[in-house]
Amino acid sequence: CGIIGFTGQREAKNILIDGLKSLEYRGYDSAGITLSGRDQFKTIKTVGKVSDLVTKVNEFSDLKQTSGIGHTRWATHGGVTDQNAHPHTHGRVTLIHNGIIENYHELEMELSSARKHPISQTDSEIVAMLIDSLYDGDAFHAIREAVKKLEGAYAFCILFSEEPGTIYCVRNASPLVACHVPEGSIVASDMVALIKFSKDYFVLPEHHIARLTKEDITIYNMDHEEVTPNLLHVNWDI
Ligand code: GLU
Repeated sequence: CGIIGFTGQREAKNILIDGLKSLEYRGYDSAGITLSGRDQFKTIKTVGKVSDLVTKVNEFSDLKQTSGIGHTRWATHGGVTDQNAHPHTHGRVTLIHNGIIENYHELEMELSSARKHPISQTDSEIVAMLIDSLYDGDAFHAIREAVKKLEGAYAFCILFSEEPGTIYCVRNASPLVACHVPEGSIVASDMVALIKFSKDYFVLPEHHIARLTKEDITIYNMDHEEVTPNLLHVNWDI
């Protein structure tokens, strides 16, 4: 339902929580974050409000990571449980998802084996399984090959354990906007979560892959050619 991602020079935790609060108006049933640092991925998620998530987050004192992703979930596939809240991790891949994957059941049949099976009931985790199964060290390749197989509406922010400071994004139908500012790179499902940082932003084009690092945002088409986004400007304040 709501998506926020940050990678930069500042601690990510509060930026993600504030971003999720600004997206609360959309309605949701669960919330979660993954903070990613070198050798230190930490996922905290819960059924309930962002305030319930904050209570859980505050049980940890060492969350200094400067990258991460956050999500508010409006359950479509799988009940409202802590386990089904996002982010979802499978193997080396952690992701958040807005939307619905129509063919997740077929994909699950192809991917599941005695050793490999999803731990949640969501359509989203199947995509984490799919990307992990296609990953051989090249994140772009794994995401491109995965989205070729997906049917449905989606916006994803994807983390790879081998690239802790990088956030990859891809979307079809569901929105994603992003901006780069001196503090870092930010992506969200709605401009309201970016406006505190910048009034200049761009809409991630559909069927492109964005790579966010603390230094910049690069957008590629599916042929891996760099694409320059159209910068937009908002005139309103919050
Ligand atoms: N289909 C996913 C789920 O049920 C994502 C829902 C959403 O957009 O929040 O977990």
